[in-house]
Amino acid sequence: MLIAPGATIGILGGGQLGRMTALAAAELGYRTHVFCPEGDSPAKQVTALATTAPYDDRAALARFAAAVDVVTFEFENVPADTAEVLAGRKPVRPAPNALRIAQDRLKEKDFLRSIDVATTPYREVASADALARAARDLGPGSVLKTVRGGYDGKGQQTIRADGDLAAAWAALGAGTGILESFVRFTCEISVIVARGLDGEMATYVPVENRHVHHILDTTIAPARVTAEVAGRAEAVARHVAERLDLVGVLGVEMFVTETGEVLVNELAPRPHNSGHWTIDACRTSQFEQLVRAICGLPLGSPERHSDAVMKNLIGADVEKWRNFINEPGAKLHLYGKGAPLPGRKMGHVTRLMPRA
Ligand code: AMP
Repeated sequence: MLIAPGATIGILGGGQLGRMTALAAAELGYRTHVFCPEGDSPAKQVTALATTAPYDDRAALARFAAAVDVVTFEFENVPADTAEVLAGRKPVRPAPNALRIAQDRLKEKDFLRSIDVATTPYREVASADALARAARDLGPGSVLKTVRGGYDGKGQQTIRADGDLAAAWAALGAGTGILESFVRFTCEISVIVARGLDGEMATYVPVENRHVHHILDTTIAPARVTAEVAGRAEAVARHVAERLDLVGVLGVEMFVTETGEVLVNELAPRPHNSGHWTIDACRTSQFEQLVRAICGLPLGSPERHSDAVMKNLIGADVEKWRNFINEPGAKLHLYGKGAPLPGRKMGHVTRLMPRA
């Protein structure tokens, strides 16, 4: 069913992804209502309608559901139960199941395996002994991650061949972890795919992602990979979106190995940091695409009119905003956050180049 302009989109989460979604929604004449526990947040600064309450506040969720026409989320650590409660009252897009899969690294990898998508070998570990067994099984060089709650490299440790496994297990500080074989990748790429209510899909070109201290630093669009690798990466992203029965936008993070294999690392059923360049370089941004998908509108063209390099402004980087605002051709985006704490994503700059 079409949700026409003038309607209200409910957004769970108040960060920069919610902010940019709200701005895209406004361009198409939609209202947005942001629900998050924080009072002042990047998304609330740009919306007239807001709820400040914990995600498990049933009364606040009921009022929120009554006030909106459709619900989406802007980060995957919103409790899946919250999305489930809302889904009983209003359409939640993507569906809560996508959230459940994406917020649990084991469920995510099991799901990918079940749909024949290649990942690095992995094992569930629930004790120090299990970790020792898994490390033997997978061979030297692995990465131990928490199953839930990790992002931007948080809750993640690299384990070397002679590493102290007992110490690694203790440092994990969680009941369950996932041990993954370390991937010697030539580059990290991601594909963003939008999928509409009718199953129509639009895919952006694969982009190349450079991380510093496990946080995305730079995205280069398009990725410098062969057309064949790019084609396979896009096909994988479309396959995942289809099998998730996704309505919305999905970011698929992948490793490209020396032998040209494409292995999926992570799924994000929401706009993705590596898709911010689409605001300035594509006919339709990933945020507009999300609004179109969840409202039952036709998707827009994902075609890029320019190549682009997007640089995140992390922590104190933001203090150089004057340089960027004075730089011809640099498009500055700031998120309205307070203190530029180390590791905090404060904004980004996109530089456009003619298409190669
Ligand atoms: P994640 O939190 O899983 O997205 O991981 C953050 C970053 O850590 C990734 O973007 C990679 O740079 C690196 N990383 C994660 N898992 C692996 C792995 N199995 N092998 C090599 N590098 C990894």
